[in-house]
Order: sequence, then C-alpha cells, then structure tokens
Amino acid sequence: MLDILKDVWFLFGRLFPFPTKAGLRKVGNPNRQSPVLLTCNFELTVRKVVQALEHDHIDAWLLVAPTKGINVWCAAGGGHLTTDTIVSVLKTSGIENMVDHRQLILPQLSAAGVNVWALRERSGWKSLFGPVDIKYLAAYLDKNRGKYLSQREHRCVGFPLRDRFVMGVNLGFNSLLFLILPFLIVSIWINGLWWKSVPLIFLLSLFNSVLALWLPGRPGVQKGFSLGLLVSAVFVLISQTAWTMGQWETLGWTGWIVLLSTYLGYDMPSWSPLWRADVKELVLGMKRTHVEVVPIRCIGCGLCKIVCPANVFEQNPSTKKSAVVNMDACQACGACIENCPNNAIKNNFRAGVCSCPTCTVINSVKSLKRKTTQQKKGGKEPAAAKRFSEPPA
Ligand code: SF4
Ligand code: SF4
Repeated sequence: MLDILKDVWFLFGRLFPFPTKAGLRKVGNPNRQSPVLLTCNFELTVRKVVQALEHDHIDAWLLVAPTKGINVWCAAGGGHLTTDTIVSVLKTSGIENMVDHRQLILPQLSAAGVNVWALRERSGWKSLFGPVDIKYLAAYLDKNRGKYLSQREHRCVGFPLRDRFVMGVNLGFNSLLFLILPFLIVSIWINGLWWKSVPLIFLLSLFNSVLALWLPGRPGVQKGFSLGLLVSAVFVLISQTAWTMGQWETLGWTGWIVLLSTYLGYDMPSWSPLWRADVKELVLGMKRTHVEVVPIRCIGCGLCKIVCPANVFEQNPSTKKSAVVNMDACQACGACIENCPNNAIKNNFRAGVCSCPTCTVINSVKSLKRKTTQQKKGGKEPAAAKRFSEPPA
C-alpha cells in the first residue's frame, strides 16, 4: 500500500526531495569481488537502481549517499553529492570490510560534483563513471556487452517521449502548487479563472514537455512562447466558430494562454539535463556559456569526454588531446572543469555549476552577496568560486 502511495506521489511530485536511508545495501547475494555502485538517497532513484540490478540478476553492493533526498544531477550540481560526501560514505558504511577490491562505479551525472582524482587520492578507491541511463547498467557491468555500447549510449543524456510525458504531468502539478494562491486571489475579481485555468495549465505543461524537441526557439521561454501562440491561435479559431465567445473575452484568454505557456516553458530546462537553462542570459544578462580546451595544458586523459553528458568534446586520435566540437550542446554542468586534472578547460561560468532556473538564481544571488561582502571586507574570492570564474592562467 505504501509503495502504491509512493508511486502516485512520484507520478506527480518527483521534483520534491524524497530521502531514503543512506548507507550500504546488498542487492542479491554480493561477495567480496562484486561490483560496488553508488547512488543518491532519492527514494525513486534507489528503487530504480535496485530494480534494474534485480531484473538483470546482478549481485552488487549499493552505497546510498546522503544527498538530502535529491536526485543525482541536482545533488551533484547543487553541492550535495561531492567528493567529500563520497569519501565519507566509503569510510563510514563498512564497505571496505566487505570487498577485496577498491573500484567504485559512480553515476555518470554525478561528475559535476565529484572530482575522481581527489577521490582516489583521499580514499584509495578508483572511480569509474557508469552509463548515463540505468537501462545500460547491465550491459556496462557485463564487459563483453559493454564494449558494444557507443559513447552516445553510455554518456549522453536523452529525453525520450515517455520521460517527457511524465515530466509534463509533474510540471503541471508543481505549477498548480505554486500558482494556487495567486490564482485564488485573482479569482475574487475574475470569476471562473481558477477552475478554467487548472486544465489549461495541465494541457500547456504536457504540450511544453512532450513537444519540447520540436517547438521553435531555444529551450525555455522561447519554446513556451511559441507554443502559447500556437495554442491561442487554435483557441481563437474554435472560440469564434463553435463557442461564439465575445471579442474581449477571447483576447483576454489568448493573452492568458501565451503568458502561462511562456512561464511554463521558462521552467522546462530544469526538467532534464538535456538542456541548459537560458535564464542566465535572458534574466541576468550573463554571457553565453563558453568552454574551451587550452591545448598546451591538455594531457589527453580523455576524462572531459567521458564525463560530458552532451558530447561536447572530441579527442584527436593521434595526440589524444581534447577539443570542443559542439559548444552549443554544453549545459554548463561543470563536470569537465571539475574533473580536468590539469586545469586545461577555460570557461566563463560565473555562478556555480547548477544550470536550472531555480539554482541559477539562487547561486547568482549567493555569488553577488559573496562578492559584495568580500568587497566590503577587502578580501579575495574563495578558491572554489575563483576556479569557476576565471580561465586558467
Ligand atoms: S582537457 Fe583536461 S580532462 Fe580533457 S583530455 Fe585534456 S587534460 Fe584530460
Ligand atoms: S562541456 Fe558543458 S555539458 Fe559538457 S561537461 Fe563541460 S560544462 Fe558539462
């Protein structure tokens, strides 16, 4: 019964943190040679990892890191899944007494928060980044099958129709929660606005999410705006032929549809690591994200290519040095910068590594506050912030 209630909650409210117990778990009958995997303590993620392992009859040790119930991507970008978190869970969970090897498989999307070089130095554990999607885990663990997976299948984030539909439902539910109070207040003056807007929000959320790959414009507000225009055109057509709605009322609803759709589109990029949010450039006037490899510093380790979920890098087949080949796809996650061992990736990131609208605004405000405080004190920026704000010398 509890599981059914949880499933219903995850259908609508999966963006809210939902913590489960952190620590070491056994999946199947692991022995001293079995693989050790790590994930966050978001209940849904843990459940999916366990289901995938059980489905493929893989015996494994699963380390559940305390990430405040937040998913891997957001926890890594938001500073809840870091090198420190993992060192701590490795030392305190008892895993070191359970296995003979020291090899840890991390979720691919944790790379934005975890520096594998530092992790190895501090814990003695060698870390590998697993596939980006749990459905490739069995193939990844099975070395013979794993070698047939391409870079794209292993590493690159996708946003298939099924996921877009689920996210559309979640977007509708969350938006209703946020908008319920202002809507109820406005309903005092505009009769029926609230209950007529409920299906509208759900519909626009679903369309924004499901059609996101095909809507014109860059991800975010422009797509939402395009969708708003499209839906309002259909609305005008129907209202003038089937419902015979008055001109002013039609105009009012048309504007309302465009406004709502633009708002819902603005929030869309935070729903998938597939896209970078545009809010930094649009609202905060920041420069477009830029990363660039400094050839003289690159030692050709290839880690930037491994951790990048957007296939931004290519390695030269003979020199092994990396180069940026697909800048437009960059989502500003910071994983390459975090893991480059020789500080070879120039960047213009200014406000932490999170790229969704919520985190961007929070980080930007924090960054602004920090700068103001430091200016008042006459001090310098902390090293971590400096690393993300200045190109390497
Ligand atoms: S840019 Fe950095 S991470 Fe990428 S191959 Fe060069 S040294 Fe390695
Ligand atoms: S290039 Fe962009 S998307 Fe790829 S790892 Fe670096 S910051 Fe993330």
